[in-house]
Amino acid sequence: MSQSTAPHDAPLTDTAVEHVDVLIVGAGISGVGAAYHLTTQRPGTSFVVLEALDDFGGTWHTHKYPGIRSDSDLYTFGYRFKPWTGPPIATAEQILTYMGEVIDENDLGQHIRYRHKITKASWSSAENLWTLDVTRTLDDGSTEQLRFTTNFLWMCQGYYRHAQGYTPEWPGTENFTGRIVHPQQWPDDLDYAGKRVIVIGSGATAATLIPAIADACEHVTMLQRSPTYFWTARNANELADTLRELEVDETWIHEIVRRKVLHDQKAITELSFTQPEFLREELLKGVREHLGDDFDIDTHFSPSYRPWQQRIAFIPDGDLFAGIKSGKASVVTDEIDTFTEKGIRTKSGQELTADIIITATGFDLSVLGDIAFCVDDEPLQFHDTVTYRGMMFTGVPNLVWVFGYFRASWTLRADLVSDFVCRLLGHMEDKGAARVTPQLRPEDADMPLLPWVDPENFNPNYMMRSMHLLPKRGDKPEWQHSQDYWAEKDIIPAADLDDGCLRYD
Ligand SMILES: Cc1cc2nc3c(=O)[nH]c(=O)nc-3n(C[C@H](O)[C@H](O)[C@H](O)COP(=O)(O)OP(=O)(O)OC[C@H]3O[C@@H](n4cnc5c(N)ncnc54)[C@H](O)[C@@H]3O)c2cc1C
Repeated sequence: MSQSTAPHDAPLTDTAVEHVDVLIVGAGISGVGAAYHLTTQRPGTSFVVLEALDDFGGTWHTHKYPGIRSDSDLYTFGYRFKPWTGPPIATAEQILTYMGEVIDENDLGQHIRYRHKITKASWSSAENLWTLDVTRTLDDGSTEQLRFTTNFLWMCQGYYRHAQGYTPEWPGTENFTGRIVHPQQWPDDLDYAGKRVIVIGSGATAATLIPAIADACEHVTMLQRSPTYFWTARNANELADTLRELEVDETWIHEIVRRKVLHDQKAITELSFTQPEFLREELLKGVREHLGDDFDIDTHFSPSYRPWQQRIAFIPDGDLFAGIKSGKASVVTDEIDTFTEKGIRTKSGQELTADIIITATGFDLSVLGDIAFCVDDEPLQFHDTVTYRGMMFTGVPNLVWVFGYFRASWTLRADLVSDFVCRLLGHMEDKGAARVTPQLRPEDADMPLLPWVDPENFNPNYMMRSMHLLPKRGDKPEWQHSQDYWAEKDIIPAADLDDGCLRYD
């Protein structure tokens, strides 16, 4: 691919334009994986990874609240190419160590530029190039503007805004005399020892945070509007432990345990569609075993939706329930009426007092990293496009987005998309094409255009809030992100790159 110093609309003084064949956005688990696959599958391709933050890790670097850990097992959340040797559920620190090893072992550090935030991306069909405006933050806090050009943009920026979490607007927050904290911006100086704490929310973050702080606090109240499904088990993998005892090679253990985990997860996912009531009862039974028959499971732990319509949060070793049983933590299922001077009044009239209120209310979905996109000087609205297999978008050339799975580990798809990108780049080279653009075929003309995800299939609040911002989906496999790893693991590697969905120029 060619070198270029393409001009852009805003003049930059004394700034050289740097060109790479492929530009990867974000050094989270997807971006580091992309860099690995590009290096190994397409050696000789020039590339950089631009990362807005000051280090790698993405989600695992941003979140620093006590107890932060995965809720997927690392045999599948880890990459397929690097064995995971720790406990299945890992802390952020363990995940960062693992990612750091991938970077060091493959000499990827030379390609990553930290504190480089991309603000604008413009495609020029005349030059077949993306031009990116980048703000670089220097050690002294000052910034400089840089410009990069690239033939291919690989979006590994995740799906939510890192700078700030989502906090709904509640009446009376200004009256509360204690501290309000969002877990995504956990303050270094937050002292919760001996304090009364309310955690608003009941997702994975609340379930992780509460057992981690409960012992030190006077009391923690989990205040939830509606319940979540939880499943609980030992944080150990029996098969992995047995294979280790037999001194089986770690590469084999990784592959075998991955297959077993995926086999079991497939069965559970199928049950959620074929026998939702049975699965629901099994999940509730698990909670009952921890909390006892006297606990009001119906009110606090029986969601109104089908299992897996939202993520099922994993509780390793039942730690959340141990906190509730010991009396250090409690659950209130009610809606917030108003914040008060001393805490929260609920709609049913309960007065909950607190010194600290933690809003574990989730994140703000961000479509493609809050970057202003243009194609040939026209501002691009991603919600006006249709997705090609949940990776590319109609009318948007030379761009792939990594969007993982909800019911399976994100990284499974990051690996699959990486293979796809490397195959596509090879295909373009073979064809002598400089541009690949998804386009609807004549037979797709009357295809119904649907939201990115079917709410019947999966409907967490952050998706429901932002669905209108996301690209559309068709009703054919080529035009959707199926959210089905077990189908996609065969479909994506075999996808016909010449079936008319991709136009080459
Ligand atoms: C607390 C928490 C726990 C989770 N646990 C799991 C789990 O157990 N299993 C699972 O499958 N999923 C989990 N997820 C979902 C999780 O986000 C993904 O699995 C995965 O970490 C996403 O990786 P990523 O690299 O695609 O994106 P991210 O981790 O979001 O990283 C994206 C990177 O891109 C950078 N970036 C974004 N925009 C720009 C820009 N304009 N310029 C430059 N850089 C930019 C960001 O700074 C960030 O470093 C969890 C999410 C959260 C919030």
